[in-house]
Amino acid sequence: MDNFDFIAYHKQIRRMVKPHLVDFERSSSAEAAMTSLLGRVEDDLEQRLTHEDRCRVACRAGCGSCCRVNVAVLRPEAVNIADYLRKTRSMSALRELKQRMKALCVAISGLDDDERIAVRKNCVFLDEAGSCSIYPVRPLLCRSITSTSAADCRDALAMHVFGESKPVMMNLMQKNLMNVAFQGLASAMEDHGLDAHGQELTAAVLPVLVEREASKELC
Ligand code: SF4
Repeated sequence: MDNFDFIAYHKQIRRMVKPHLVDFERSSSAEAAMTSLLGRVEDDLEQRLTHEDRCRVACRAGCGSCCRVNVAVLRPEAVNIADYLRKTRSMSALRELKQRMKALCVAISGLDDDERIAVRKNCVFLDEAGSCSIYPVRPLLCRSITSTSAADCRDALAMHVFGESKPVMMNLMQKNLMNVAFQGLASAMEDHGLDAHGQELTAAVLPVLVEREASKELC
């Protein structure tokens, strides 16, 4: 990671995403923006991680112990996730999901990061097997998290509730690359005069699902 130029990387991401953000509320534009961005960052990460790095990562499908923290997303991410859900879920599954999303929004509304951990409410997209059900379109900030020890993650979250901390070793290249990609997307949004503040994942995706549903009913 020593000689990786994160400032240049931020500029590249911003330049790459910017043209896709014209009228990005349309499904096809949000999908194009996020497909190109996610493809690019995953390719770049693949090239930068060594075999040793990959062996050290403990994150696996079925763990999900960190999936009960506040995750911020930008609007194009939320639109892309909502459209992915609409494509991959049946009407009844989507209805049931929206109910759970509403309940979670109520339960975690206004909670800061510490309070959110303390209430022990899982992400609504974590399935019963402990896997991410929106894995191909999961948020950039979820992608930024890696751990070298599942036990350390569990301990850190448990201790956090009591105001204590335990460090969790992460892959810094992955963390920084995804964080910079998030910032690059935010900067590209600002270039278009869009609101580039992050919003909590469930609270950001639910209104998009409701809006999409309403616009379909009007057609
Ligand atoms: S979106 Fe997926 S990876 Fe992110 S917190 Fe939810 S279940 Fe976990």
